Amino acid sequence: MGVPQRLPSHGVKTTLRGLMEKVVIIGTGCAGLTAALYTARANLRPLVLTGQQPGGLLTTTSTVENFPGFPEGIDGYELMARMQKQAERFGARVQFASLEAVDLKRRPFGLTVDGENVETQTLIIATGASHRRLGLESEAKLENKGVTYCATCDGALPIFRNQPLVVVGGGDSACEEVLYLTRFGSMVYLVHRRDALRASKIMAERVRENAKIKPIWDSVVTEVLDVKQGKVTGVRLKNLKSNVEAVMDCAGVFVAIGHVPSTGLFRGVVDMDANGYIIPKKGAGTNVPGVFVAGDCADHVYRQAITAAGAGCAAAIEVERYLTVLNQ
Ligand code: NAP
Repeated sequence: MGVPQRLPSHGVKTTLRGLMEKVVIIGTGCAGLTAALYTARANLRPLVLTGQQPGGLLTTTSTVENFPGFPEGIDGYELMARMQKQAERFGARVQFASLEAVDLKRRPFGLTVDGENVETQTLIIATGASHRRLGLESEAKLENKGVTYCATCDGALPIFRNQPLVVVGGGDSACEEVLYLTRFGSMVYLVHRRDALRASKIMAERVRENAKIKPIWDSVVTEVLDVKQGKVTGVRLKNLKSNVEAVMDCAGVFVAIGHVPSTGLFRGVVDMDANGYIIPKKGAGTNVPGVFVAGDCADHVYRQAITAAGAGCAAAIEVERYLTVLNQ
């Protein structure tokens, strides 16, 4: 499938080795880049690690209409590129690099970043969340062969043009995907496991009013067809109320059923709930002094670009205060 554009970042190897950082920020979504802006303006020269998706999930969305300050809306990629530029202007060092391991039991904290050791006095976890999968074997086998998690990245591909397409989910993401795909598909089916959308009223209204969208209520995808052919030719659907199964032809399956927090590296050390969301303490803190958290990896309630940005700001202020006490 199409590879989302990458925000520009710099080589990592020459800058990391042997350095003791004041603050390392993991993640460059709205939370991470806002934390980067604030810590940079506090002269902390944050090291900001992008992970595999620089700019976070917002870079895969189309127009962001609800970020204050952009009355006409702004492209998600553009918004993140601007945030990065703003943070870099004040000295943030954004690196295309992934955190591989952490040792939060020692002081300073020890990080392994693309094979290099990094020491830091404080850490802001802003790792966000990734797309939730349906969990079907056929879904995994046909990923990138017609199964995708991002309409903005893949919707315009020739295989989807003028073909029936399926979107799974009932939240704002699913509505956004289904509306976007009406530009390309002959018909777009919205398969939802209930008979009411979870999405906000305005999004649900837009879906309802679009003649190219057909909701399929109370239904789940039980199989993506056709693994043998190595491409998506349809889906097997099950109506949860009647238990009736049916096969529907389509050329693409766009899964938009929510997100899973990207917190695996911190399991067992940083307190998190049963779903893997980090539990913040006293605002942006965690159970580990010196480790702070912001954004979707700690928020299963609001999950908005602007709330993530606000949380990034709070984490940065907490870091500044913590370092003032630590280094006095
Ligand atoms: P969400 O609100 O959690 O919705 C997930 C949807 O997927 C729900 O309808 C859920 O069904 C369904 N679902 C979950 N697991 C499923 C499974 N295993 N099989 C089938 N269906 C399943 O997630 P989201 O849509 O990604 O939105 C996340 C947050 O981002 C929300 O706060 C949303 O408001 C925000 N957001 C906002 C915008 C916007 O404002 N334009 C755009 C995108 C996202 P149930 O309803 O039955 O639980």
